[in-house]
Amino acid sequence: MTKVKGYWQNYIDGRWADAAGGKRLAVENPATGKPLAEIAAAGAADVDAAVAAARRAFATRAIYEMTPTQRGQLLLRIANELRKLSDEIAPVSTLDNGKNLDFSKGEIEDAARYFEYYAGLADKLHGRSIPLGDGFADFTQWVPYGVSAQVIPWNFPLELCARSAAPALAGGNAVVLKTPELSPLASTYLATACERAGLPKGWLNIICGYGNEAGDALTSHPGVDHIVFTGSVATGQKILHRAAEKIVPCVMELGGKSAGIVFADADLDETAKSAAIGIYANAGQVCSAGSRLIVQRKVHDALVEKLVGVVKGWTQGAGIDGHFLTPLISGPQLDKIEGYCRSGIQAGATAVIGGKRAEREGHFMQPTIFTGVKGDMLIGRDEVFGPVLSVMSFDEPEEALAIANGTDYGLAAGVYTRDLRKAHWAADRLEAGTIFVNKWFAGGNDVPFGGMKRSGFGREKGVEALYNYVQTRNIAIKY
Ligand code: NAD
Repeated sequence: MTKVKGYWQNYIDGRWADAAGGKRLAVENPATGKPLAEIAAAGAADVDAAVAAARRAFATRAIYEMTPTQRGQLLLRIANELRKLSDEIAPVSTLDNGKNLDFSKGEIEDAARYFEYYAGLADKLHGRSIPLGDGFADFTQWVPYGVSAQVIPWNFPLELCARSAAPALAGGNAVVLKTPELSPLASTYLATACERAGLPKGWLNIICGYGNEAGDALTSHPGVDHIVFTGSVATGQKILHRAAEKIVPCVMELGGKSAGIVFADADLDETAKSAAIGIYANAGQVCSAGSRLIVQRKVHDALVEKLVGVVKGWTQGAGIDGHFLTPLISGPQLDKIEGYCRSGIQAGATAVIGGKRAEREGHFMQPTIFTGVKGDMLIGRDEVFGPVLSVMSFDEPEEALAIANGTDYGLAAGVYTRDLRKAHWAADRLEAGTIFVNKWFAGGNDVPFGGMKRSGFGREKGVEALYNYVQTRNIAIKY
């Protein structure tokens, strides 16, 4: 049994630090519901210290003035140090988050890949030369914003820290990360990796604390020049108000209610596997989870039967023991999701499987499939963020599209068909930043990701993301 250190600290100005007031917050193991460890709970004074450290670091221009190639090499070293720590991080990530151990390993590899990917782009941030006529030279530069504040949710905390910190550093910014109070332990290893890779002090600071204390203090701090927020729409709205007061640019990566459209010609076995992974991986606690499946009526019953078969092939239990069906993050989250299921049943949907919490230790929800879901039911409209699939049916393609686009969200969407014309037709009309055809979650660190509508704006991942972390400066010279 992995032994997890009892107390974890924040990382500010190149040093491990207690919270200024000595406050700590408790972290539990979602698979048992029992306490796992404590971590320093940052308050306003710690936020001040972290932002001040980042400001001092940025003022040295140390990262920005490295040659871009050297900056890339530094990021590459961080990627390598993260990989070296993988065996140590993976069980910690699984115990404080609940996810399957292989998913934790994948998350660490993804975190390393972000540093590797943006390492490769650090020396490809080229400006333009603009002809102004005789006697002038004009060119543009990509310059950093300064201090980038990054607020992270609990579902993939280490990966999401890396997703935002890597392009920020590649662009020459200093970073303050606020990690989630529910699953903060694994992210601290990013500081260890940066330290071992030789990142100068103050360029990356990691603090954990409650959202309404540390999160609010950070996003309203006058020393912050740029905000990246990944989390719920409600919190995103609060942060946008803070940013508006100071005119600070933001990237908003918010929630989703993503739908997959299944045409009758799809490969139903492959579709069932893909759709089940799309909603049950990490207990449905994935922003781009495929939480709605809109199925052409003539294959509806056959597909639901296959979905049930896929789910029955998995076991439920602690992620550390290798189970695929893992717990929800917390007791309140379990209550919330069970409440959504009750509302679905009351509204007339049918729970083909699940619909209730699992009778066992920890925060486990039964994997659930609802049929007969309508777009005006809470389970058909809200982001449930749990292992609950809402199946709907359609006859004509336009009807499927109207259902899929009929929510406020626009993060991801999918199409299952053997007919490329249908795939293109739907992909062109689905209101989402990411479209998966025949495989949910297809793509990696190298494809742009982000939302349309209330799922947010700006993009993370891929080349696009880098341009969210730098701004253009034009230099016009008269000879
Ligand atoms: P949340 O909004 O409750 O919390 C996210 C982070 O914001 C946490 O660190 C929290 O402490 C902080 N926070 C809370 N209140 C704050 C405030 N007033 N000021 C500043 N910070 C504050 O979200 P969550 O429950 O942790 O995560 C789940 C949500 O995140 C879901 O909606 C999910 O879809 C979304 N998400 C989106 C993406 C994406 O890339 N689009 C990725 C992962 C998760």
